[in-house]
Parts: sequence; structure tokens; C-alpha cells
Amino acid sequence: MPEFRALIEGFRRFRSGQWREQRLRYDALALGQAPKVMVIACSDSRVDPTRVFDTAPGQMFVVRNIANLVPPASAIQGQSSVAAALEYAVEVLKVDYVVVFGHARCGGIAAALQPLPENRYIASWVELIAPAREKVLAAAAIAPDIDCQAALEQANVRLGLANLRTYPFVAAAEREGRLKLAGALFDIANGELRILDAATDRFEPVPVALAAET
Ligand SMILES: [Zn+2]
Repeated sequence: MPEFRALIEGFRRFRSGQWREQRLRYDALALGQAPKVMVIACSDSRVDPTRVFDTAPGQMFVVRNIANLVPPASAIQGQSSVAAALEYAVEVLKVDYVVVFGHARCGGIAAALQPLPENRYIASWVELIAPAREKVLAAAAIAPDIDCQAALEQANVRLGLANLRTYPFVAAAEREGRLKLAGALFDIANGELRILDAATDRFEPVPVALAAET
């Protein structure tokens, strides 16, 4: 298993490198965590939010799933990793922000646009995007040049934010000014991060110092 051996080698580099160099940070983190941000991201191996946002251990509480979905509170039956993580982040950790972090070229979004065998877990999971998908497909019926994949990636972030507000503890924290919600989209191909502007409902690129890039 060369792949797993590579993980062990990676651990050894971490243990003799970052873990030693950041010993004070890890000593403090051993006592507990107090991240200020929760991120709901896709499981996609290319879009690790702790890398994209360049955060250190202890700074970001993360839940990842296919297509960075947020099920509405009404869809929760029994155990739910997203609902449990959200409750813990908002009620116990008292994070300041919850960010729905989507990305371009998302396989989960592509799956939502394809007919899938109904007995597959992925088909059932991405069906949570159905309300957004129907809007995108209706728009594409009128304007066939719409990029349905990109449009649904955006619509899915908007839907995720709306679904977050279906949890009473999220709505209350936002209403009382204890919590802010944000939406973002990242494209690995051009390195662009776009943030959803609440005033315009558009995703606006984050300016970067291009001169510093080589
Ligand atoms: Zn994805």
C-alpha cells in the first residue's frame, strides 16, 4: 500500500516539522478549541478550506460533505452530521461566522444535473439541491446558453444559506447579531475566490495582489 505508506511519511514530516515548530499552539489547543469560524465545504480533495483560507489548527471548525450541502431542518431525521456540527458550532463554540464554501467543477453538483439510479446514496443526497436545480433548469429553458453547472454551484450556496436559517438556533443567533452567515465559491483553475454580496446577491471576486504572483 504505497499510498498509505505515504501518509505515514507525511505524519513523520508533520511530527518533526510543524508539530514541533508550533508546539506552543498545540499545547494551548490541547486544553480546548475556540474557533471563530465554521465552514461547510465539499469533500472534494482539491478544495481544502484550511488551505484556501490559510488557517492554522484551531481556527476553523469544518464539516465537509458531497457538494457542501446544508439540509434544511425539516429534512433532518435522526442522526445528521451537518445538523450536529452546526448545533455544536453555534450553541457551544459560539462561532462568529458560518460560511458555505462551494467550488467550481463540483462533481456533486454535476451529479445533481444527471439522472442517477435512485438506489444510490449520492442520488438521494444531491436531491437536497432539487429546489435550486429546478430554478436553474427553468432559467436554462428560456436562455439555453446558461452554464447550468456554474449556475447551480452558485444557487446551491444561496440555498445552503437559506437552509441554515431554517435552524431556529441559527436564525436566533443571526437575529441577535451573534452570528453572521456568508457564502463563497472557489475555483482551483484560476485561484479565484468569490464572495456572495448580500446587497446585490452576486458573487464578487476577492481582489488579490496579482503583482506578487509569479
Ligand atoms: Zn464538490
